[in-house]
Parts: sequence; C-alpha cells; structure tokens
Amino acid sequence: MALTDITRQAVLRAVGEYDELGREAFLRQYHFGPAQSYFLDLNGKRYDSKAIVGAAHGFLPGQRALAPAEFSGGRTHAVKVLTDLGFQIVSPPAAAETVSDADELVRYIRKLKVAHAEGGPRLYQPITLLWAAGRALRQEPRMATWQETSHALAGLLELHGLRGERPRPDFPVLALFHSGLWTLQGHTGAVPPAHGDARLRHWFAEQQPVGGLTEAVYELLRTSGQSRVAFIGAIVDRFFAGLDEIPLLTEVGLFEPTVADDANGTAPGPRSGPDRAAVGREVVRAAQYERLCTLVERREQSIRGKRRTTFSLDPIRSATARKAVMLRSGGDCENPGCCGRPTDLTDNGDPILEVDHVTEITRDGRDHPSQMIALCPNCHAVKTRGSTRHTLTATLREVAADRHRNAMS
Ligand SMILES: [Zn+2]
Repeated sequence: MALTDITRQAVLRAVGEYDELGREAFLRQYHFGPAQSYFLDLNGKRYDSKAIVGAAHGFLPGQRALAPAEFSGGRTHAVKVLTDLGFQIVSPPAAAETVSDADELVRYIRKLKVAHAEGGPRLYQPITLLWAAGRALRQEPRMATWQETSHALAGLLELHGLRGERPRPDFPVLALFHSGLWTLQGHTGAVPPAHGDARLRHWFAEQQPVGGLTEAVYELLRTSGQSRVAFIGAIVDRFFAGLDEIPLLTEVGLFEPTVADDANGTAPGPRSGPDRAAVGREVVRAAQYERLCTLVERREQSIRGKRRTTFSLDPIRSATARKAVMLRSGGDCENPGCCGRPTDLTDNGDPILEVDHVTEITRDGRDHPSQMIALCPNCHAVKTRGSTRHTLTATLREVAADRHRNAMS
C-alpha cells in the first residue's frame, strides 16, 4: 500500500460515503476513532481526515481500505496526502460540528476566546452568534452571502457594540471560524487568522465567502428551544454582565416567547431511539425539566443582578418556564379534580392545555414552574371565573409546588 497512490476521486468517493452513512456509522465501518486535530474541510463541512484517507484507499482499483494502525494521521502523512491533492485541512477541529446537546453548546460559549476592552469582553463574537441564532429561530437559511452577513453585522455592531466595537464583521466571523463554530464556503485557499486590518478587509472583499454557523450548531439552535435558551443564557451571562442585552436580543428577534419552543416535529429532543422504554423517557423528561428550571433561575438572577424594573416582562424566561410546565404535565391537566380535558390535539400535535401562573405575576407571583400549572381550558375557566376559584387556586398552589418538588427529586 502507498498513501501517495490515493487520488482526489477516491477521496471524494470516501466523502460521499461519509455523507451517506453519517459520521458515526462511517467511523464504525472503518474502525476509526473521531479525529482530534485535523479535519478535511469541504464545502463548509468537516470530515475526520485520517478516516477519510483510510477509506479512500479502499476506493482505489484492487485495493482495500486501510486500518488506523497502518498509517499515521498527522501532518506528514494523511494530512499531507490530502493537502497535496488540493484539499483544505482545518485545525483545531470544528468539534462544534458534532455538538449534540445544550450542555455541549454552552461549553463552547464558555471556551470562546475573545479580546477584552476596558470594562469587559469584546462583543464582536457574541453579537454575531446572537444574530445567527435569530436566523435559526426564524428558520432562515444557515448560510448567508458575505454581503448580507456584513451588512447585518455592521449595523448591529454599530448600534449594540456597547464596549466600543467597530462595525467590522470580518473580525468575529474569522474568530468564530477558527474556533470551529462558523463555516465559510466559496473561497479559495486558506482562511486568514483573525487579526490584521486592511488585509482582512481585502480578503473578504475579494473572496466574498458565503458563511454561517456550523451545521450541528445551527440545527440545534433551529430545532431545540432548550438549546436556544441555554445558548442565549450562556452568552448573556458571560459577555453582558453589567450591560443591558435586551435591545440587542429584541433586534435580532430572540426576545420572543417562541424562543423556548421546539421547531415543529424536528426537535432532536432527548438522545434516544424511537422505542426507548417509558421508564427511560421519564428519566429524560425529569432531566429536561430540571435543566429548564435551572435556565429559568439563571435568567431570574441575571435580571435581578441588573436591577431591572421589567422583572415580569422577560419572554425568554416565561417561555422557558412554560415549556418546563408542559413537560411536567405529561400532556394532562394538572388539576387533581379535573373532569376531563379535550382529547383533540392542536395543529402542532400538542395537547390542549394552558399554562397558568397560580398567583398572578402582578400580585407577586413568580415566573417559575413551581408556581405555574398546566390546566385544560375547563379548569382554567373555573380557576378564573368559577365560584370555587379561591379554594381551587389554593389547591393548585400546593399542587404546583408538590409536582415541582417531585419532578426535581
Ligand atoms: Zn382540567
């Protein structure tokens, strides 16, 4: 065998198979572990470079695929084969290409390297990420032309660059590219590092790359309300301490009650097969409930820390709390004396339930699942205008607290 026999066409066939099987199955098939350092970057997607080379060898006439122990993956071997064939290698890996849940996404936000200004971290990257998350929420395409990206970001940086950021979208896009959260396509040659000034401007003007969040990050933000809320929360916590993030969130379209909703029918949800046992589902649901409650509480703290007067008007927190209560309800009215909810479902396939603040927010109620309850429209009507509403409210207050405690234990 000789690595140098490998052709561009064989590599492309391996890439095609990788696309067809998906990463996990491809690596399993060829017995490779996930790449740690070097990824082949093709059309904005990243591939484990060594596994691709091993598989490509099997697409040569009369040859078989190579096992991981038969060759080295580093700069002088697999990587060299690919670069010699004109492919682009990126390193460090866009491990963000494989992120699969909210926690992992949050770790990326915590690790992000940013420059500092007087008063705190620079907002270039956070603003860029929030803009992209707004696009994901609205189900807009992941990739945008450089013209569209730079126009949108320059406007946001000018208005919301609260630490004196310049309207320079090229800085954050390159920084995010190099930390694996952003992809760029349609350019030739290597992507420059995120410093310099005229040189960067020139590169973007000349290359006009199309770009956007890496696919896995975008899909998570597009489909999972919980991931979206966690992502926004992590960015706000880390970068906007002492600042008011609400005007920015509003402008990018994230300060919305829909922010915690899953996209219809496509939410990744808990990592599970379709036939997971009911017990398993319960455990996953409890874990999700707990996480949503944590997000609600963090949001409460962040707002309290800033002494907001709009305490009750945080659609992100409300939507998150609402989602947690729906999850806790398991699709049934939580009033123990319920005479039966409608069996029909909404167009989205959700049960017909309304999430109610047991004690109204305006009367010191807390926007928190422990003080909220899912009710069918009948019970909701009784609680609002029935003659027994006062006793019912007292009961439901206890029920909500109990159910919250049970769900958390
Ligand atoms: Zn009911």
